Amino acid sequence: MDMKSTDIEKIVRQVLESMGSQGASAPKAAGPLPKTSRVAMLTKLEHFDLQEYPIPELGDDDILVKVEGCGVCGTDAHEFKRDPFSLIPVVLGHEGTGEIVKMGKNVKKDSAGKPLAIGDKVVTCMIFKDNPDITMFDLNKQNVGGADVFGLLPDDDKHLNGWFADYLLVRGGSTIFNVSDLDLDSRILIEPSAVLIHAVERAKTTGILRFNSRVVVQGCGPIGLICIAVLRAMGTENIVAVDGEAKRLEFAKLMGATEVVNFKDHKGTEALAEAVKDAFGGYLADFAFQCTGSPIAHANIYKFIRNGGGLCELGFFINGGDATINPHFDICSKEITTVGSWVYTLRDYVTTFDFLKRAKAIGLPMEKLITHKYPLEEINEALETNLKMEGLKIAIINK
Ligand SMILES: [Zn+2]
Repeated sequence: MDMKSTDIEKIVRQVLESMGSQGASAPKAAGPLPKTSRVAMLTKLEHFDLQEYPIPELGDDDILVKVEGCGVCGTDAHEFKRDPFSLIPVVLGHEGTGEIVKMGKNVKKDSAGKPLAIGDKVVTCMIFKDNPDITMFDLNKQNVGGADVFGLLPDDDKHLNGWFADYLLVRGGSTIFNVSDLDLDSRILIEPSAVLIHAVERAKTTGILRFNSRVVVQGCGPIGLICIAVLRAMGTENIVAVDGEAKRLEFAKLMGATEVVNFKDHKGTEALAEAVKDAFGGYLADFAFQCTGSPIAHANIYKFIRNGGGLCELGFFINGGDATINPHFDICSKEITTVGSWVYTLRDYVTTFDFLKRAKAIGLPMEKLITHKYPLEEINEALETNLKMEGLKIAIINK
């Protein structure tokens, strides 16, 4: 066959053009992907069903993520047990992380402006509709409490809506962050840690929290323990942890608490306040973080704070009932400045990535917070373990 060089050039150009146009319209993929994905569908109270659905076609702004793991949150346990959000059937799991395996042609950068590529490790935050007040990276904007989140979405015809699954379909318009420089355990702890970054930012608005402050942290569940770690990572040296469980108080020390007080060892609020004072060497706290969901704990905590001190209340993610305080003694005459804190802003999310690196660098054993790991097939057991309040953070880890 006799082919002129001009013909060859023409063919090469055609091939290149067709490749180019294909590259621009078809989604980029890591390689052959399975046709289906398992999801853990909560089909009735206290029961997940492992269901298999086709992996849908990707839109130009969509990202397909292969799930590596997802923490079990109190909210998941709440939904599993009572369905307070009337979401059943629902794929839960919002503290998840995984690897990008496919993305639409428009996807170039994450929500912080970092480039995104196949193989990057990511987390999602909120899915925004049209509220400009929560889409901005601005400390003065409101928290993201009003937005949607993967893992708490109603089921739809695509089904890949939560992180308790093999794959998650991240739809265009949702926030996503490239966290390839964090290990899997750290990535699973991002969401709960962001809650504490936000709480500390709220606390700082009082002007009372300083490097040398005496800080009391009440409640040593995952939230209280991460609170201690965040305070420690930002240079607070004088932290007293209060809880009723010796094991959790031991953990509080590992996370950076200087002294611990077991409330079961002290009868009555006055005695407990004395114990906190003793733990600070004869001083009340300058600042307090209330990390339990107990109204009695809220009422007690004012007694631990000095005149002119501050309080951040962040324990009531859900309605835990009314607390009885004495406005004269607890707030007015002591001039206590209180702030409430709930979820986080997008800016807090990015600060959290730095916090997790710093926590590791100063030797805080964050990974020990994840006390139980279950494969997706054992998700019902994972939720039951969470409900029994055994351990601290429970996670689903995919193989
Ligand atoms: Zn959560």
